[in-house]
Amino acid sequence: MALSPWVFDAHSDIAGDLFLRDDPQRFREHIDRMIAARVGAVITCLWGFADPGVPAAAQQLRQLELLEQALAEVPRATLCRTPQELAFARRRHDVAFVLGIEGFEVPVALLPELHDRGMRHAMLRWSVDSPAVRSGHLTGLGKEVVREIERRHWLVDVSHLPEPAFWELLEETECPILASHSNAAALQRHERNLTDDQLRAVAERGGVVGLNSWPPFLSSDAATREDFIRHIRYVSDLIGPDHVAFGFDFVDYLLDVVDLGSKDLATGLAGLEDVPGLLADLVRHGFTEVETEHLAHGNLINLWQAVSALQLPRGGAVIG
Ligand SMILES: [Zn+2]
Repeated sequence: MALSPWVFDAHSDIAGDLFLRDDPQRFREHIDRMIAARVGAVITCLWGFADPGVPAAAQQLRQLELLEQALAEVPRATLCRTPQELAFARRRHDVAFVLGIEGFEVPVALLPELHDRGMRHAMLRWSVDSPAVRSGHLTGLGKEVVREIERRHWLVDVSHLPEPAFWELLEETECPILASHSNAAALQRHERNLTDDQLRAVAERGGVVGLNSWPPFLSSDAATREDFIRHIRYVSDLIGPDHVAFGFDFVDYLLDVVDLGSKDLATGLAGLEDVPGLLADLVRHGFTEVETEHLAHGNLINLWQAVSALQLPRGGAVIG
């Protein structure tokens, strides 16, 4: 059998793990696991809510320092600022890191510095309100953030947005957008999942939806790899397989240090080690090898290339 395609995971909390452990050695373990599972690229987010005792922005900036330190020390892992850099990293068989932020808690004035340090992705909100999203809606500051990140060709990520803010964000930008780690509400009603109208809206503007392995987003019963494949099939049939990706959101390595409300993981999709089996199952479920390769990494790369190359009507594109 041909080697399964390498995987670009649209959502990982490795930076949060480094923060919680304060142990750079953890990064080496993550890289070894990723290489073994053929996960070759990942969007890693600064996440401000690992420790309720520390302000979110301070946690995010500390996570950035830890990630920079880890990337400098550990071989075979590279921070990528452009799709070209990602392609070079993959050619060297390095794990490519795309830096993002989950919940825009940092001051907007820091945006240029974050861009210089490699940030290329943003979610305006996590599961609690942020200065950018309040009571379900984008704030004035949220709209400013959208303009600033669009201007810098960052990936705009709508996962975690309440539905009114989702539609408001689509009014604010013409960019193809990412929903990095959300599933289909038609299969599992949950505030973190997207309705058919939302899924279609993401696809209509050339966006991509990354599907999540966290059990409550998959099924009301004990979730399995089959449930994940059911979501993949449903969303692929609704909006086309070229708009679907993986945003696994694996948390197996966090369960002993942070309370996520549950310790249950999806059977057969509990962590990186299950990814090769998932890819084999997708082919068994009738996805062609080309479709599987697009799901695995091609669609996310195409999205990043499209966002990077965008001609922006608002003018003033920032280069670099
Ligand atoms: Zn999340």
